[in-house]
Amino acid sequence: MTNNTYFWFRRDLRLQDNHGLYQALTFAKANNSSVSCIFIFDINILERLPNKKDTRVQFLHQQTLILKSQLQDLGSDLEVWHGNPLTIWKSIIEQKSPNAVFLNEDYEPRAIERDNNVSSMCSERGIAFERFKDHCIFEKAEVTKDDGKPYTVFTPYSRKWKARLAQYPITFYPSEALPGFFTQIKDLSTHPSLEEMGFESFPFEYPEKTVSQQLIKEYDGKRNFPAVKGTSRLGLHFRFGTISIREKLQKALLLNETFVNELIWRDFYLQILWHFPQVAQSSFKPQYDKIEWLNNEKDFERWKSGNTGYPIVDAGMRELNASGFMHNRVRMIVASFLTKHLLIDWRWGEAYFAEKLLDFELASNNGGWQWAAGSGCDAAPYFRVFNPTLQTEKFDKQFAYIKKWVPEFGTHQYANPMVDHAFARNRCLETYSKALKG
Ligand code: FAD
Repeated sequence: MTNNTYFWFRRDLRLQDNHGLYQALTFAKANNSSVSCIFIFDINILERLPNKKDTRVQFLHQQTLILKSQLQDLGSDLEVWHGNPLTIWKSIIEQKSPNAVFLNEDYEPRAIERDNNVSSMCSERGIAFERFKDHCIFEKAEVTKDDGKPYTVFTPYSRKWKARLAQYPITFYPSEALPGFFTQIKDLSTHPSLEEMGFESFPFEYPEKTVSQQLIKEYDGKRNFPAVKGTSRLGLHFRFGTISIREKLQKALLLNETFVNELIWRDFYLQILWHFPQVAQSSFKPQYDKIEWLNNEKDFERWKSGNTGYPIVDAGMRELNASGFMHNRVRMIVASFLTKHLLIDWRWGEAYFAEKLLDFELASNNGGWQWAAGSGCDAAPYFRVFNPTLQTEKFDKQFAYIKKWVPEFGTHQYANPMVDHAFARNRCLETYSKALKG
């Protein structure tokens, strides 16, 4: 066997049901080759992170250590690099002359550009560069209108998505069934420590990969109440591919349609970002970029730290700051509050969530923010301004969630509302309608 097929792990950190890995191993089997695995801590991404105690970098570090040890149990290894992927691939191509590089698709604009650059480098040397769908159920233009145009409204998209699933049932890729085709390595490589990469390690409890059948069965009834553990908290694992989306979907199909619909929202936003990459910077509806945001920095600081005087907003922001998670209902409320009550550009909130959320995913985060601001493809209408008090009455009636995160709630120490709801609502409607008419 020659040692010359590569698999590049990125958002797919598992050996089981990994599509690209399965294809690499199958290729190696057919071509008398073997698969060497690599992971790159990309300095272009790491250098943008403001916090040296970063929960996601630490999670990636832990997961790559697990992968490395699983591969070592198979007599192989995971090469872990810290650097610029283009430079690293250039040196691998020159020194190792692989016959092929396999990987799974990443749909974010910067990642597409990076992958295209590596692909060009490979094709100059006649090396195959093979990308596969693993991160979602249906990608790119797989679910489109009959005329081939992308859907921009969720309900018809989800109908077509379900019809396509009926036509093309889930296919699994049992990469775990080909353990004999990894490159056997005697001289094991080292794994850079977090400290060597400029980060610090710290105790942190990450959400589990598994979720009970009961929770999924009861999902539709409980998912809107932030005080209850009614949602899966699988977002982090979907983001880094530590679980298989296909496996979770297959189980969910038997248990709860509402949960399945949420997984479809994920595909929906991924295809929006792929078809309309400009949404990463601009409003999906261009006229929303004419809104005259107030962008008051002091107001933004109060929102970020959870000191707005609106307890449901403050509870959400404090939950985010402390745990890297925020319940979906509360994400909608805090995002509406920032954009509509405070008239702060949705991009500011989006960037703050991107920095803090464990499950940060560009497509869903952007989709969620543009939905709340009204600027998105299938968004809340601009005149729908969430009333935080009514939302609390509906979804946290006993204040259980609020009391957990805002212990001074109900005492003199708790802040007064930073803006009057009725005043803020009118100001928002005036500002938005001026932009949308103009
Ligand atoms: P569950 O309710 O258990 O849902 C299961 C999975 O379905 C989630 O893990 C997620 O992968 C997917 N999902 C659920 N709801 C949505 C949705 N509305 N859109 C897309 N996918 C969904 N989700 C992210 O994964 N990353 C983000 O960065 C992100 N940012 C958001 C920002 C805002 C302003 C809003 C309103 C929503 C955002 N969401 C984001 C969507 C949603 O809030 C989270 O997916 C969900 O709260 C994660 O918790 P969970 O894993 O317990 O989800």
